[in-house]
Amino acid sequence: MTDGMESKEVPVTDGAESEGVTVTNGAESGGVTGGVEPPGTAVTSGVEPPGPAVTGGAEPPGPAVTGGVERPGTAVTDRADAVPARVAAAEHVVKEFVSGFGIAVPRGATTRSAEDVAVAAGGLTPPLVVKAYGPGLVHKSEAGAVRLGLGSPVEAARAAAEIRAALVGSGVAVEGYLVEEQAPPGVEVIVGAVRDPSFGPVLLVGLGGVWTEVLRDTALRLCPITEDDARRMLSELRGAALLDGFRGSPAVDRDALVKVLLAVGGPGGVVESLGEGFTEFELNPVICTPEGAVAVDARLLGPADVTPRERAEAPAPQDFDRLFAPRGVAVVGASTKRPNFGNMFLGFYRAAGYAGRLVAVHPTADAIDGVPCVPSLEGADVDYALVAVPAERCPDVVREARGIPFVQVMSGGFRETGAARLEDELLAAAHDAGVRLLGPNCMGVYSPAGGQTFIGGRPGRPGRIALISQSGGLAGEVIKVGEHRGLAFSKVATVGNSADVGPAELLRHFAADDDTSVIGLYLEDPRDGRALFDALRAVSKPVVALVGGRSAQGRRAAASHTGAMVGDARVWEALGKQAGLPLVTAQDDLIGALDLLDLHAGRQVPVSPDVLVIGPSGGASVLAADALDRAGLRLGPLPDVDLGLPVGAVPGNPLEIPVGPRGKPDLVGQVVTAVQREADRPYPDVIAHVNVQSFFTFGDSADPLLAYARGVGELQRELTGTRVTLVLRNAEYAPPGVEDELRVIARAAGVPTYRSVEAAATAVAVAKVRDQRRRA
Ligand code: ADP
Ligand code: MG
Repeated sequence: MTDGMESKEVPVTDGAESEGVTVTNGAESGGVTGGVEPPGTAVTSGVEPPGPAVTGGAEPPGPAVTGGVERPGTAVTDRADAVPARVAAAEHVVKEFVSGFGIAVPRGATTRSAEDVAVAAGGLTPPLVVKAYGPGLVHKSEAGAVRLGLGSPVEAARAAAEIRAALVGSGVAVEGYLVEEQAPPGVEVIVGAVRDPSFGPVLLVGLGGVWTEVLRDTALRLCPITEDDARRMLSELRGAALLDGFRGSPAVDRDALVKVLLAVGGPGGVVESLGEGFTEFELNPVICTPEGAVAVDARLLGPADVTPRERAEAPAPQDFDRLFAPRGVAVVGASTKRPNFGNMFLGFYRAAGYAGRLVAVHPTADAIDGVPCVPSLEGADVDYALVAVPAERCPDVVREARGIPFVQVMSGGFRETGAARLEDELLAAAHDAGVRLLGPNCMGVYSPAGGQTFIGGRPGRPGRIALISQSGGLAGEVIKVGEHRGLAFSKVATVGNSADVGPAELLRHFAADDDTSVIGLYLEDPRDGRALFDALRAVSKPVVALVGGRSAQGRRAAASHTGAMVGDARVWEALGKQAGLPLVTAQDDLIGALDLLDLHAGRQVPVSPDVLVIGPSGGASVLAADALDRAGLRLGPLPDVDLGLPVGAVPGNPLEIPVGPRGKPDLVGQVVTAVQREADRPYPDVIAHVNVQSFFTFGDSADPLLAYARGVGELQRELTGTRVTLVLRNAEYAPPGVEDELRVIARAAGVPTYRSVEAAATAVAVAKVRDQRRRA
């Protein structure tokens, strides 16, 4: 018999040192063991956050805990090469903790020696389960430390002795044994959480118990979740039918499982209570039956070091107007001898016809490339300074910028190349000087109305599309290609490493910006994912995001099954669902989606996945249907009345009509107008597609095709409550210039154009995600 048997102490793994643990309440209240307290056995009781001490005042709201919580102090040893230093808490301690949140766990007791198991199990109802615990025992079954189906306390003691013999033989230290009642069989579900370095706690539910990792049938959400999130997570599982009763088995108690999800990831739940004190947590499995949900295993991995992450103070609400319309610009780094980035930017501003005060900073020169010089940023009297000097010199330059509201550091050579210290120094310099910093490692700002540019040439026409990009190069491409296609931007900010000004803050700015109606994002690693998540949930304007590097990331070292299954791609998916943020996967789709969102920004269409597709017959219609299906769109049936369709039309959706050089140019308009008039619920979206090639089979005249495009434009002008989208298939077959002319005609009527049904379907699907949000 070991120490601590009569105490109320939580038997942490190094029990001898656990005197300091004080449980102020709940010591008697329904702990893990449900009051099973055979004399002479240390029984887990009370609810104490197990594992590492909870710091930063993040005390679990339920059970009050005074004083530091003893940490088991056992470094996880298996998979140790892949896992950063962490501490694991013993299973019964974790179970006891979670039972304080209303999660059902089996009745059980712990002992230090195998011989005591029989006595400890006296009050338990067989069949019984015995498990060993101790440092290094993270995946117990794999180590042979779990025995199920034991018919009596004596049998349980024998099993414990066998486990001990086997583990001692393989050099694994055992600290004690947990004997507990065996829960009846049911559907095994994993409920877990991990701390994402950028987005914070993420909740996972998966089907399949031990098979979850193989089946990968999981659903994720960022914490805290709502009850609605919990229910949606369950219905997202491919195997959700298993919960509803399959092949004659009864349905499990879904509400009980929803309660477990909320108890772990909901407001005031386990995850929130642990605060910074966990890296991975899982209940694996939770056994679900018609009678309820029981967590038969619980695992908690805490950080070895729980010093709370320094939370940078949220910057004061910033007025970014001067960033996008500076009254003066200073360029630091231009050379009198060897043209460099600084000189290039001077050229950009001049080519763009910048009307404000433009100066170059140079210690001796009077002028560079015709631009007057000032000796230092001090007294430069500008709103914006662009710094293009070697990385080591940037902090000094920024220190001289006092009084200038915005400084952009173009130079690379900071965190992205491993020089995190230099970046910290740069940020500190910006704080000292009281300036807001863009970058480092970024290209700058573009704003046709405000004179800002970083792309060369004349700026495009001012528009209403804003873009925040963590890649300067990509932003430049989106602007140039987008403007070529007819898009018009209000403001574009490249944020590079986002040391200070980041995507979240700019998103909040654009959300309130009168010049902007739609917002695009290109992200790789938002520095503060949480703030971005919050900003995304708050913005009501249409937003679409392209996230780079989703597949490359996510292979972080993990000691739990949950940890191994939460990759970055899945976290972004979850964020997309929770924030109603449509995610696209290619640059062209980002441009295409922004175009549609912008052109149709003013239209309030019915919220429904339905689309009417109309165009010439053949395989194209069949393939169009497949493309829409892949994009998650629905080809709702045509109204069941006489639509007066023309000769050669095939009713259905896709609706096939004769479109070609000899067709009537206003045929699409007539048919769609009739359909929308007769429909109970008009289609929110119409995709008209045309085979450009067919118009040039017998001649070179573009007139019939241009007339067709005008017809589609007329249709849009008439149907103000419908989003019309035009697909110019095989547009490259048209004589030079015709495609551009078609785009101009369509755009003038507010119709976006695409080269493929796939591209159009992607853009329409993005708009529908935002429609959903409007309803929510
Ligand atoms: P591991 O560390 O290997 O995950 P577990 O505690 O999860 O160990 O036990 C392994 C398996 O044994 C579980 O997946 C579950 O199927 C079963 N099991 C464990 N404890 C119980 C219990 N109290 N009642 C019913 N089944 C149990
Ligand atoms: Mg388990």
